[in-house]
Amino acid sequence: MFHVEHSGEQRCGEDGLNLPQRLDPRGSTGKDEQRSYSLDGGDALLASHPREFCMSDHTEISPPSPSATGPGDDLPELRDPSVIPPPGPSEPAQPTQQPSVPPVEDAVAVEPDPTPQTRVIAVANQKGGVGKTTTTVNMGAALAEQDHRVLVIDLDPQGNATTGLGINFRVVDSTMYEVLVGGTPIDDCIEPTEVKGLFVAPAGLHLAGAEVELVNTFNREAKLRKALDEVRDQYDYILIDCPPSLGLLTVNGLVAATEVLVPIQCEYYALEGLAALSGNVELVRDNLNPTLRIRHIVMVMYDPRTKLGEQVVEEVRNHFGELVCRNMIPRAVKLSEAPSHGQPITVYASSSRGAVAYRELAREVSHGA
Ligand code: ATP
Ligand code: MG
Repeated sequence: MFHVEHSGEQRCGEDGLNLPQRLDPRGSTGKDEQRSYSLDGGDALLASHPREFCMSDHTEISPPSPSATGPGDDLPELRDPSVIPPPGPSEPAQPTQQPSVPPVEDAVAVEPDPTPQTRVIAVANQKGGVGKTTTTVNMGAALAEQDHRVLVIDLDPQGNATTGLGINFRVVDSTMYEVLVGGTPIDDCIEPTEVKGLFVAPAGLHLAGAEVELVNTFNREAKLRKALDEVRDQYDYILIDCPPSLGLLTVNGLVAATEVLVPIQCEYYALEGLAALSGNVELVRDNLNPTLRIRHIVMVMYDPRTKLGEQVVEEVRNHFGELVCRNMIPRAVKLSEAPSHGQPITVYASSSRGAVAYRELAREVSHGA
């Protein structure tokens, strides 16, 4: 049974809802750092940002129904009792009355903001291998198939979105590294793909150097947003495939984005790290990008044959309510095969379950438009 165990003594950030050891994105080192989050670091963060990093904040936005029972009811108890007194069993969750704790907006949206002309969607989750790239590439292809003009930006030095769309970063003139570090116009690196209306700004291994090289540059968090200024109007959707870290590249993605889409794998530990991600979204919103919100959560690699998958979905829906997309992406072999052919699923296996699911997801995310 999917279950988050904890005792009454525990605080937000424990029980697998890990917190970043350091807030400064320069301190993040990717997958390895996920393993190095310490409770000490979490406590230090909680001291300075007690509510921003509390998963229970999200339950105030979309609380589980009062009748809901089961594993999903565990997370609200992760509140730090010294920060927010938990509501009684029958009373609805209320913001704290304590004047010493100022109200903090959550990183998640209740009502969608008016849709801007170009939606810039950062596909982010610092957990590795949860389906960020698969979702970026295939939702991008599905949106393009639905007559939208789409740009995929590969912000991951692994370059998986680049190769998954059939582009060899070794033979292109420039990549996102030159754009972010060298100031090359992004238009110069954008490549067309096999899919009409779908374009990619490629990345390769040397993009990893950008994390370090940007550190001492002016406006380092807004490099991508600035680069997009010259092309934004040419696209209906710009999808940013973020790396599995909360480093400077991901921060650039969040600063450039109008919204965040979080893929969550239907597996044990699905919620691990979500508190840290939503904390970073809040920090970026509060300091650099005031309209940024987590707008969609997508359940991926769903296997209806397993009880665990169902339980994870129930748990995530209990906590994130309407943010969770109705359409889930099934675990499907064709989806894992497609990248090795350099094709999105809509081309590689156009009528497969994975292709159908990503088309439905694209319709849902684009509000059927
Ligand atoms: P990283 O954090 O390393 O960038 P990621 O979050 O981008 O990883 P993906 O690369 O999209 O994750 O997916 C991880 C692996 O899972 C890949 O091998 C991919 O082909 C496979 N995969 C993703 N989604 C599915 C699915 N729905 N069904 C089957 N396999 C999938
Ligand atoms: Mg990826």
